[in-house]
Amino acid sequence: MRTVLITGAAGGIGAAAAEAFAAQEDRVLLNYRRSEQAARSLEERLLQKGQEAYCLQADVSDPQQVRRMFDIIEANWGGVDVLVNNAGIAQIKLFTDLTDEDWNRMIGVHLNGTFYCCRAALPYMIRQHEGRIINISSMWGQIGGSCEVHYSAAKAGVIGLTKALAKEEGLSGITVNCVAPGVIRTNMTAELTEEDIAVLRAETPTGSIGTPEDVARAILFLAGQDASFITGQILAVNGGFVT
Ligand code: NAP
Repeated sequence: MRTVLITGAAGGIGAAAAEAFAAQEDRVLLNYRRSEQAARSLEERLLQKGQEAYCLQADVSDPQQVRRMFDIIEANWGGVDVLVNNAGIAQIKLFTDLTDEDWNRMIGVHLNGTFYCCRAALPYMIRQHEGRIINISSMWGQIGGSCEVHYSAAKAGVIGLTKALAKEEGLSGITVNCVAPGVIRTNMTAELTEEDIAVLRAETPTGSIGTPEDVARAILFLAGQDASFITGQILAVNGGFVT
């Protein structure tokens, strides 16, 4: 049984990924920061189906909290076989209005959080000579989004980290890849009006908005046996919005 850690597992994409891994009999570790109730009810749902799931609280932007989370993981399960760096936040703001705090928070969660979790997960993966890391970037990390400069920079950083780490860990039997979603219906996009959604649909070649399950299937693929010769890649799940 593989142990899979998903950060931000109480959110839309994280929960869909957790359900998908658990359904194929992986043990899922559900990291959350504040959404304890959502994380606990997901854990409960999976346990009721006879699947293995455990909640772990930690703010991934805090290196000490990440270390404490991995201390618990190592004591109970040795380490993680699959790490999904999914935790994320969004903020729409003009670049000229961004404060130091806005900037640092965005980089802290997405880029520092991915760094802290990869750093903590790797020693076990290196010892096992096997491991999968899937980092969730965004199409805005690929092409840049107006009024989301800090988000785009953080997500572009995640792409750079992925490509470089894939090269460093290739001989250790570890693959490192990114999934770059387009517009996906979750809490993160809940503020979009139906009019906004209609415009985005019209701009998307498939004429649709993505679901968390669309992203979860791509994560599962990269974590699976069929993707063993794929590393350092960016898998875009965006209906053709960015090609
Ligand atoms: P979501 O439903 O808002 O979920 C994000 C989750 O991340 C939340 O449950 C939140 O948990 C958690 N989180 C935030 N900061 C954290 C921290 N410091 N430590 C631990 N957990 C933290 O959003 P989503 O759409 O599923 O987003 C998942 C990922 O996909 C994000 O990285 C996002 O940037 C990326 N993405 C989303 C879209 C989209 O259109 N939805 C598009 C491209 C990329 P708490 O409430 O407990 O803080």
